[in-house]
Amino acid sequence: MNAEVAAAASRLCTACGMCCDGTMFQIVRMQPGDSPAELVRLGMKVRSLNGEFHMEQPCAALVELRCTIYDRRPSRCRLFNCQQLQRLEAGAISEAEAAAVIAETRGLVRQVRDLIELGGLREDGQALAERYERLMSTPVNVTLEPEMVPVRRELELQMQNLRVILNRDFRVPAAQG
Ligand code: SF4
Ligand code: SF4
Repeated sequence: MNAEVAAAASRLCTACGMCCDGTMFQIVRMQPGDSPAELVRLGMKVRSLNGEFHMEQPCAALVELRCTIYDRRPSRCRLFNCQQLQRLEAGAISEAEAAAVIAETRGLVRQVRDLIELGGLREDGQALAERYERLMSTPVNVTLEPEMVPVRRELELQMQNLRVILNRDFRVPAAQG
């Protein structure tokens, strides 16, 4: 990435944060060379499962859409460039076009978060997909809370739209998790 593209990428990332805030991923897997102990010392939520370490998202290092442990972030974070950044680097899109896609997607994320809250699940610091699954796995009592039926329907629709956009415009299959 040349300096001009890197500067544009930095502006885009600090207006986005979706690969760190639990929107796109639930965990970041540690790689050889990463130090789980150091990340714990830095305040990250690090867990181990089947002998592998991972860092949970939303990431505790993300503050006002900036990584506060940028120089010590894990290798997956260093290597990850979402599809918007890859297209920008390839010259396939402009910074303004990427910014518009990010703003629109963040608007949709906001809508999904609001619908989850309307559905009765308060913000609890867990990743978006996890919160969505938790709410949707609780059946609606149609007699006692009929107003929840359209809320759930709208949430399901908007979450589906969001998944399509994240897969099409942001996630990079080999880099997930
Ligand atoms: S999803 Fe892309 S644009 Fe957004 S913060 Fe991550 S790398 Fe940057
Ligand atoms: S360590 Fe930094 S780059 Fe990695 S997920 Fe957390 S905020 Fe994002």
